[in-house]
Amino acid sequence: MTKTPDNGTQTTQTTQTVEFPVAPSALPPMDDKPNDLIYLGRDPSIMPMDEALEQVFDLYGMPRMGGASGRGWSRIATMQRCLHLYKRRYIDGKRGGPSRALEVGSCFHTMMALYYWAMREPQVCRITPERLRDELLKIGCDVRAVEDSWRLFEAYSNHYPNDYLTPLAEELYASDGDNTCRYDLIARVEPNPFIAPGTWVVEHKSSSRFDMATLEGWKNDGEIIGQIMIYKPAKLTKKYGKLMGVIVNIIGKQKIPKFERVVVPVQKWQATAHKKDLRVWNAIEQMCVATNTWPRSRAHCTTKYGPCEYFDDCAEKFK
Ligand code: SF4
Repeated sequence: MTKTPDNGTQTTQTTQTVEFPVAPSALPPMDDKPNDLIYLGRDPSIMPMDEALEQVFDLYGMPRMGGASGRGWSRIATMQRCLHLYKRRYIDGKRGGPSRALEVGSCFHTMMALYYWAMREPQVCRITPERLRDELLKIGCDVRAVEDSWRLFEAYSNHYPNDYLTPLAEELYASDGDNTCRYDLIARVEPNPFIAPGTWVVEHKSSSRFDMATLEGWKNDGEIIGQIMIYKPAKLTKKYGKLMGVIVNIIGKQKIPKFERVVVPVQKWQATAHKKDLRVWNAIEQMCVATNTWPRSRAHCTTKYGPCEYFDDCAEKFK
């Protein structure tokens, strides 16, 4: 998934975005109820990426890679943005469909996972990234989402032809008992002039901009610190070796993609503080459940990505 630490930028955009073509059957009934389908501009004849990925893995008789990370950072980050939004998304389970950017993220991550899995176990991994691309197009996914993912993947594999990363595990789900995460890649870094050798978590991120937030924000990012926090309690040290830290593997979405690897070393105090902080966030959630009150923050109703999906619900008469 594409993720850039939120720099708090707000926009004044308040209109909904509708992308075309939208099939006539997808048009909303002529009443004043909000309609998720139109809100997200989804053409119903296009197969959602998640379902299509499921189908391809089924077709090849292989376990699906990727998917939700359980009680992972995105839940907490949503809670920190707005408790009301958290309730709508995670408690009521009323989530809108994925945006194209999200579909590109999930397709690209799957291609990367297959690339490293095939490198580690060529006899077992029968889907190559190229095969995945062809199957997704055959199934009828959003062509632009598949082609965008392929463009990023192809640029990446060409940029690091003799890489110093030796894969140890891909799309690994892990838990410390309270919190969960999914590691894009755990790899051994072989001796090289850039990054200290040893075991590293590698987190793939795609980004259109290479600004300060994209390049330097990671050392204070809850997802990255959470991955460091969970590694040892999940007993991964024994299996893969002592963790050096996280390499944030940034792939640019520019016309000519740029590449950057940002290193976040393990800092024990930070992982301990993060665990303590998460306990408080979990307690806040329990308080909301107990009082059945989920306050609207109204401080994050618009972000640099546009309005919150419940913007109209909170602004006008829909509840
Ligand atoms: S519109 Fe604002 S207050 Fe309402 S759920 Fe979204 S972020 Fe929260």
